[in-house]
Amino acid sequence: MSQTSISKTRISRKAASFTESVIREMSREAVKHGAVNLGQGFPDWAAPEDIKRKAQEAIAADHNQYAVTWGVKEFRDAIAKKTMWYLGLDIDPESEITVTCGSTEGMIAAMMATVDPGDEVVVFEPFYENYAPDAILSDATPVHVPLYRTDNGFVFDREELKSAFSERTKAIIICNPNNPTGKVFTRDELEFIADLCKEHQALCFTDEIYEHITYSAEEDGDPLEHISMATIEGMRDRTVIVNSLSKTYSVTGWRVGYCIAAPDITSAIRKVHDFLTVGAANPLQHAGAYAMSLPPGYYVELQKEYLRKRNFIVNVLRETGFKCDYPEGAYYVMADISEFGFPNDIEFTKHLIRGIGVAVVPGSSFYHEPSMGSQLVRFCFCKKDETLEAAAERLAKLR
Ligand code: PLP
Repeated sequence: MSQTSISKTRISRKAASFTESVIREMSREAVKHGAVNLGQGFPDWAAPEDIKRKAQEAIAADHNQYAVTWGVKEFRDAIAKKTMWYLGLDIDPESEITVTCGSTEGMIAAMMATVDPGDEVVVFEPFYENYAPDAILSDATPVHVPLYRTDNGFVFDREELKSAFSERTKAIIICNPNNPTGKVFTRDELEFIADLCKEHQALCFTDEIYEHITYSAEEDGDPLEHISMATIEGMRDRTVIVNSLSKTYSVTGWRVGYCIAAPDITSAIRKVHDFLTVGAANPLQHAGAYAMSLPPGYYVELQKEYLRKRNFIVNVLRETGFKCDYPEGAYYVMADISEFGFPNDIEFTKHLIRGIGVAVVPGSSFYHEPSMGSQLVRFCFCKKDETLEAAAERLAKLR
C-alpha cells in the first residue's frame, strides 16, 4: 500500500495538553523508593467490616449485571434520605440523582453535560488537580481565582472573584471542604459566590466529598459546620453537588459516587454518564445504600479520628520547620517549605522521597502557574497512626 502524504498526529490536542496526574505519579514513586506515602489521599486502613460484608452479600445475591444506568433505586433512595438528614435538602431520587463512577466521573460528566466550547468556568486555586483536565476535556476555559493564606485561613479577594465573572461564565467550581487548602467556606462567602452566580446565570459545581471531615480551626473545639452551596437561597436549581462514598466510608477503590442536580441538568448528566461508563458497580451500590444509612454516630467517630491525626501531623510538621496551619476540613496540610532552602517544590519532593523516605505532592501541581506553588507541598494524613509515626521519625532527619 502506498503511503499518503497526509500528516496526522496520533494524539489529540486535548490529550496532549495536560500531563499525567502528579498525585498518582507520587504514589508510584513512593512504592519505588520505599517511602511512607503521605501523597495520595486514600486511607491505608481496612475499610469498615460491615460495609464490606454488605458488598459480599450483594455479590452473593447476584446483583452482578448492569444496574439501571443512573443508579440502583435503593442506593438513590438512601442518598436522598441522607441528604435530607445531613443537608436538609429535599431531593427527588427519581429525577435528581445520577450515580457515577466516583465523584471523578461525576464532575466531568456534569461539566460535559452543561459546558459549551468557549464557556468560562471559574476555579479557585490551588485546586484539586483533576479540575484542570476536566476543563480541557469538556472544552471549558478555566479562569483562576487565588485563595490566599492569611492568619484567618485561606480566603479569596472578593473584587478578584467579581471580576472573574462575565457574560461568558457558565459555572464556578468550588471544593468545600477544600483539597488541598483545608478551607471550609463560610456562609457569608457562599452567599457572595451565590450572588455572582445568580447575577451571571452561572451554575455551581460543588465537590463536597469531604463534607463529613471538618474541624475547628484551632487545635481543639467544635468542628465547623459544612454548608452546601445547594442550601444557599436561590442556588438549589443552579448547583450540581458532586459527592462519593470514597472518603466518608474509606472505600476509594470502589469508584462509586453521585451527582445531585435539578431534573433538566440531571437528564443531561445521565446521558453523558450512560455513554461514558453505562454505570457504576452494581453490588457496590447495594453496599452504598447500607453505608448511607449508618447512624449519626458513625460520622462523629470519623471526625474525632481525623481530628487526632490532623493535630498530630501539624505539630510534627511545625516542629520539623514547615510553616502550616491547622486545616479546617478534609485531610491534607499545605505546608510551606521555604525554611529548607530548596529551589522549588519538585526538588524538595524528590529529596523527601529519595533521601528522607516520605512521599508528598509538590505544591505546583495545584496551580495553573507552577511557580505559585513552588514553595509548597501537600501532606495527606488519612493514614494509620503507625504510618504517621513512621513518617514523623523520618521527617526528624530534615531538622
Ligand atoms: N474530589 C476531590 C476534592 C478529591 O480530593 C478526590 C480524591 O482525592 C476526588 C474528588 C476523587 O474522588 P472519587 O474517589 O470519588 O472519584
